[in-house]
Amino acid sequence: MFTAFLLKYAEIGVKGNNRYLFEDALVHQIKFALKKCEGTFEIRKNQGRIYVEAQGEFDYDETVEHLRHVFGISGICPMIYVEDEGFEKLCDTVVRYVKDVYPDCSSTFKVNARRARKNYPKESMEINADLGEAILNACPKMRVDVREPEIMLHVEIREKIYIYSVEIPGPGGMPVGTGGKAMLLLSGGIDSPVAGYMIAKRGVKIDAVYFHAPPYTSERAKQKVVDLARIVSRYTGPIYLHVINFTDIQLYIHEKCPHEELTIIMRRYMMRIAEHIAGETACLGLITGESIGQVASQTMNSLAATNEVCTMPVYRPLIGFDKQEIVEVSQKIGTYETSIQPYEDCCTIFVAKHPVTKPNLNVIRRHERNLDEKIDELVKTALETDELIVVE
Ligand code: ATP
Ligand code: MG
Repeated sequence: MFTAFLLKYAEIGVKGNNRYLFEDALVHQIKFALKKCEGTFEIRKNQGRIYVEAQGEFDYDETVEHLRHVFGISGICPMIYVEDEGFEKLCDTVVRYVKDVYPDCSSTFKVNARRARKNYPKESMEINADLGEAILNACPKMRVDVREPEIMLHVEIREKIYIYSVEIPGPGGMPVGTGGKAMLLLSGGIDSPVAGYMIAKRGVKIDAVYFHAPPYTSERAKQKVVDLARIVSRYTGPIYLHVINFTDIQLYIHEKCPHEELTIIMRRYMMRIAEHIAGETACLGLITGESIGQVASQTMNSLAATNEVCTMPVYRPLIGFDKQEIVEVSQKIGTYETSIQPYEDCCTIFVAKHPVTKPNLNVIRRHERNLDEKIDELVKTALETDELIVVE
């Protein structure tokens, strides 16, 4: 029965003179999301609100589902809209609306009319009273409660008349594209997709890099990362995923460096390469799924050692999250089931039995010098393997 949506946005409403930039970005993201839905839609900005009107047939559930992925939207209000054909007709429409949306007709309600078109013959207060009366006449079990109504029935009189009473929560945040771009280090695990989601939620566009180590990691493991990027892209829009062949670097580190430092040194090379690609693709920072103390490579000492190789800011939105909290977000955003598929992102030969938990930077640097002979060449070759997959 619904034919349109009023989309509410919270934070972008307070951006002063730049507000139109945020609104335009939001409209852009809404268009992108609705492209995947059946039906055609007209999207309009009007006095601090965004309206989406279906032009003919559309799939309501699918449309709501897509809108629930657009950052910047705080609430989705399904509406009906009608032409102004006189007040009698409006009373009928409102009564029909109430009966359709609340079939047992036994709630408390309040009518909240807003006359945005000032030449409408009745004033808001009068519209409230008259529509309220029409509802009470048609639905004797309904009662008016102006303080805490169960149903707040909004009637907006503009060129057309809009009626709504339901608000479905949106994802919040800021429209993607209003906050620059960052490079997500995306593995097949639970954490990094959540990290990407959280930074994108603040309006940041996401590119991603995955370090692949064939034949030690399978094609299926790579496909899992592509699948995860696709799920995240429902929120972020298209993700440019760089797949880097990391095998030779890993083998060389394995050959030349103490095994308990392998993970740290490997992570330092991941960060260096990610930063290089980020610099070439206009990214302003890196994003990882690290959280203090989760594993040996994420102690404060280890994070200091990995961080040291980068000059770009490294965003770690999960830094203070417990694993269970991360799992909850991953379930909410739909990445969890894919993340727990058993395709390892790292072969056991690259994981030491007793990795260092308090790496000493001077020692790490000294051991990295064992790599001097070939590492620059290997990094260069790895960068040449960059396979770009556009995920959407
Ligand atoms: P995740 O669940 O995100 O895989 P994790 O708990 O397995 O994280 P680590 O393997 O220590 O933790 O990785 C820490 C972070 O480093 C990841 O969150 C991710 O951002 C990045 N990372 C790890 N492995 C890769 C990889 N193969 N390709 C790209 N980034 C990676
Ligand atoms: Mg991992």
